[in-house]
Amino acid sequence: MKQKMSMMMILILCISILGACSTPKDGGTKKDTTEAGAAGNKKTLILGTNAEFPPFEYREGEEIVGFDIDLGKEIAKELGLELKVEDMIFDGLIPALQAGKIDIILAGMTIKPDRLENANFSDFYFTASQMILLHKDNDTILGPDDLVKKKIGVQLGTTGDEVAQEIEGAEVIQFPAAYAALLELSNKKIDAVILDLEVAKRFLTQNKDLKMLDIELTEEEYAAAINKKDTELLAQVNEALKTLKENGTYDTLLKK
Ligand code: GLN
Repeated sequence: MKQKMSMMMILILCISILGACSTPKDGGTKKDTTEAGAAGNKKTLILGTNAEFPPFEYREGEEIVGFDIDLGKEIAKELGLELKVEDMIFDGLIPALQAGKIDIILAGMTIKPDRLENANFSDFYFTASQMILLHKDNDTILGPDDLVKKKIGVQLGTTGDEVAQEIEGAEVIQFPAAYAALLELSNKKIDAVILDLEVAKRFLTQNKDLKMLDIELTEEEYAAAINKKDTELLAQVNEALKTLKENGTYDTLLKK
């Protein structure tokens, strides 16, 4: 009986050793996932943004500041991570995310179908719309129909770019940043600029030559983009967003 028991024990031991031996395979897959989303095992959350989009992200001297940066800091804090901000061209953000160079994008980025093919998006944190900006001397463009065959400035790869491309016969001029498009508009080199509402409002306070039509061309939602393989981070970010909305931090940042 005793012998039978110890045989059983050895058998159980063998099975568990075998089991343990097969674990590295699973562990391997897990490791791949975390490496792909650069966050894995690290103490830092690398936030990718394009610091030309006030009040969401912009430079104050050397420092990158704004709502998205504050939100990123709070999310990182919830996750027990240190935040590092990488500034790059807007159009390069999703490729950087896919290459694992950044963990998360917070860049006033709108959730849209083609982006969903290349990244996961968190729950949305802000609603937005595309607006038409004009030189204040322009009294012939009264709505999107008047943009037909006109020269329209946009920021490359944005939803504003997409909206402009759909306008019949329009000549769409893509700029690396919105302020460059607005400068051309001030100089009357182009007829209009299509840009996100809050950002347009901010630029208008700084440029008295420009005005905005009171027509919302789109309904959009900004969210954080995360590497498709990094589903764990996606869940954590959604959880953090929920907490920040519930505990009032989100509202405080919004007011700021
Ligand atoms: N919301 C727009 C987009 O997602 C513009 C974002 C931006 O220029 N930072 O395309």
